[in-house]
Amino acid sequence: MSGLRDQVAEVKRAANIVDVISSFVRLRRAGRNYVGLCPFHADKDPSFTVNEAKGFFYCFGCKAGGDVVSFIKLYRNCTYYEALQELAERYGIELKKFDSAAKKKEKDREELLLEANKIAAQFYNKILLEEPQGLQARIYLKERNIPMSIVREQKLGYAPNKWDYLLRYFDSQGISVNIALTAGLVVEHRKNVFRDRFRHRLMFPIRNSRGQIIAFGGRTLDDNIPPKYLNSPETPIYHKSRVLYCYHIAREECRKERRVLVVEGYMDLLRLHVHGVRNVVATLGTALTRQHVRLMDRIADEAIMVFDGDESGIKAATRSLEMFLLEQFPARCVILPENLDPDDFVEKYGAEKFKELVNNAGELTDFFIEQRMKAFHGTLESKSKLVDELLPVIRNIPNPVIRGIYINKIAEKTGIPESAISERFKVLKSGYGRTRFRKRKKIENGEGIDEVCSLEESVLKVLLHNPGFLSLVDADRIMSLFSNERLRSILAAMVNIWKEEKTIDLDRLVVELASQGNESVAVDLWMTSECWNTEEEALKHLENKLGALEERILERKKERLLTEIGQAEERGESERLKELLKEFERNFF
Ligand SMILES: [Zn+2]
Repeated sequence: MSGLRDQVAEVKRAANIVDVISSFVRLRRAGRNYVGLCPFHADKDPSFTVNEAKGFFYCFGCKAGGDVVSFIKLYRNCTYYEALQELAERYGIELKKFDSAAKKKEKDREELLLEANKIAAQFYNKILLEEPQGLQARIYLKERNIPMSIVREQKLGYAPNKWDYLLRYFDSQGISVNIALTAGLVVEHRKNVFRDRFRHRLMFPIRNSRGQIIAFGGRTLDDNIPPKYLNSPETPIYHKSRVLYCYHIAREECRKERRVLVVEGYMDLLRLHVHGVRNVVATLGTALTRQHVRLMDRIADEAIMVFDGDESGIKAATRSLEMFLLEQFPARCVILPENLDPDDFVEKYGAEKFKELVNNAGELTDFFIEQRMKAFHGTLESKSKLVDELLPVIRNIPNPVIRGIYINKIAEKTGIPESAISERFKVLKSGYGRTRFRKRKKIENGEGIDEVCSLEESVLKVLLHNPGFLSLVDADRIMSLFSNERLRSILAAMVNIWKEEKTIDLDRLVVELASQGNESVAVDLWMTSECWNTEEEALKHLENKLGALEERILERKKERLLTEIGQAEERGESERLKELLKEFERNFF
């Protein structure tokens, strides 16, 4: 790790965090910090702060945080090492010993995860195409008119209705349980008992922009077994807020059309593929994010949201508007008639009619305003309410000229004079600032901290600001008290740094945690810490929290024993009952 650390230090010396972030976010000075609108969430107030002296950024809204390299990592959606490379290039630094052990380890793990997903896709695909147990899935695809060409191109598959079918296959292919778990293909059912995550489901492989399989969506083939759609969890190679379904295909198609369509589900998308419409992506069971919009921005000049006319479709369309405005990416929208989803629409009216609708799509903002107008029935009072609802959205538009155009539009549609709307805009603007200030003040005073933060977080906070305590307490004991994996790994990193350097520098900790993607949590803990007047006070706080942690663990043990005692009684297992009662006595009397 030390080779990498030197390199990071060298890059950071050259790459001033304010300079770097300023080329992506408009920052202004506020006291000792810089603030701006956060690029990682729909930020209405400047929640994003950059601390130049300490060299880190932190968002009070979404809690993203880290050093200058983490910023690039998050912004570009790449690894810490790729981000480091980008900065090194920009500042003319040559990264010599770049294939560090840590990088290699991360790369190796990524390769293994990709391999596991690939093998799983082939396995599921083969069952779907060739095995008797794939019959129901084949029938389902036939009913939905998905031809073989699509099944093969997408490598659709079938996960059989068995507990450990994939698990055993993985074993035969040399894929470890650990990798299968990390890839989200297997779950730990009980301690050391593992099961396939996907059972009796039609499997849709999800790919990254390079076309590599990184995750799966599974549709149940038995409506009595919810959920209807089950997706892979977030993994080191799959972040649903940054992945669009079939982006790799849309990218090719959009070269010609420069326009990307957005639909809601796998089936809608594949049915459009069947009809030759391939410049289309889908979100994966999540609301549209800014990162999604940035992905579209790379391949097209505009997005067209395609929704069915039901309530949830309309809601999704209006929610996505904010993201498009924030990224200044043009968006139009099509609401399909008769509550048809895209799938049914092309089936009923054909692809030509569909393309016609897309060509005549209206602007998303207009749609939003119209929808809200409808909800407010056009009375005078409701119109002014409507303005109050629209302005916060408009406020997100960074370009003042475009903002003006929208204010104009609202004036036109509502009949309220533009000057009145602008006036209202100013009032609302200052109002937001005040509520934000109150909220932060409360956190600074330490009110309610313990309600929000878990005991484990409190322990880490004390140790972060008083690393010397690590020589006073038994770190292994603390580690054993922690139940949150993520927080435990942060503590482990802290202990390591402490052993080497007898101090804990946030900067160093961030680098150490970056490969696990945990650096934001560390910065968050750092930023949201209380302050103690004296060391004694801090130590007392630490001891209190550790005591409470121990109590909690005992409490849990007691609960577990009592449950087991109850079960043994019910089943009449007298030997077991005796044992349990003895254990209970030993621990709690
Ligand atoms: Zn944020």
